[in-house]
Amino acid sequence: MHKSPDGDAVGSALGLFHYLKLIGQQEVTIVAPDPYPNFLNWLPGSDEIMVYTEQEEEAKSALKKAEYIFSLDYNNLKRTGDLTEILEDSDACFIMVDHHQEPDEFAEFVLSKTSASSTAELIYELIKNLEFDQKLTLNSAQALYTGILTDTGGFRFNSTSAKTHRIAAEFIDIGLKPHVVYDRVFDQNKLSKLKLMGYVLNDKLKLVEENAAYFALSQDELNAYDYQKGDTEGLVNYGLSIKGVVFSTFMRESSEGFIKLSFRSKGDFDVNKFAREHFEGGGHINAAGGKSDLSLQETIDKLEALIKEVKLELSQNA
Ligand code: 5GP
Ligand code: MN
Repeated sequence: MHKSPDGDAVGSALGLFHYLKLIGQQEVTIVAPDPYPNFLNWLPGSDEIMVYTEQEEEAKSALKKAEYIFSLDYNNLKRTGDLTEILEDSDACFIMVDHHQEPDEFAEFVLSKTSASSTAELIYELIKNLEFDQKLTLNSAQALYTGILTDTGGFRFNSTSAKTHRIAAEFIDIGLKPHVVYDRVFDQNKLSKLKLMGYVLNDKLKLVEENAAYFALSQDELNAYDYQKGDTEGLVNYGLSIKGVVFSTFMRESSEGFIKLSFRSKGDFDVNKFAREHFEGGGHINAAGGKSDLSLQETIDKLEALIKEVKLELSQNA
């Protein structure tokens, strides 16, 4: 899975993991480049995920031994951070399952569909098309449902299709309880996370040119609210909830010494293109990410200048 794994990366991996075990694969290992957020640690099998930053040698050896490597929820090996070189040097057969724009050509087998709500939805399709006798189990369903739930912002983004809901319905038929998954994913917050949200909404969220919003958090501000991975998940969407706003950006100082940016948009304003052109990133038309090696203030200035440049395009989408 990609670096900074999210619900879709972890959900896809675990959904496939349980199924591969079910059909008799003995040696299946999930490798994450770095830790996944705590709100995913209830998923059955999550404790078996090998985290490269914590188990470097084991992860390296598992990848070295691998005959097949499923690349899940990323379109470019660079998205795996410190695993990039290891994967580039691997002789394994790569199978990419992903829904990001403009996939790189590194895999022998590719299931890439940018219209899919999530990689988890594509894993479901893959499993269905394998035509094994074994039916998908609740363990896989919970993982895949979590991927779909988180990547669609709770079945609300425009990538949510009738098929997405049909898949969810099938999961419910085999015993999944939506309210239980929702509670475990979204309603296990620390008070400090909600206070950070309050701080952002009160003091940090800025409106630019009527159609864009952004907020920026320094490492000191994050520390003041006891920031842990995943604590700012979804916050960037609040910018988009302001009337007239079609482009929202969240940036934060990361512990790795650069600025990490998250972009969200409505309508035709393409943040994948914006992130690729200006912030060494990418993603989807309405959700993308990137990075900046400038200081936080310089990155804010750069963003504000860019927003002025695309002002007309933004107003046309409002
Ligand atoms: P998020 O803002 O939630 O971190 O990411 C939004 C989307 O953009 C996700 O689909 C994610 O995979 C993608 N994304 C985030 N950061 C980057 C990046 O640095 N490079 C690329 N290519 N995609 C990214
Ligand atoms: Mn995804």
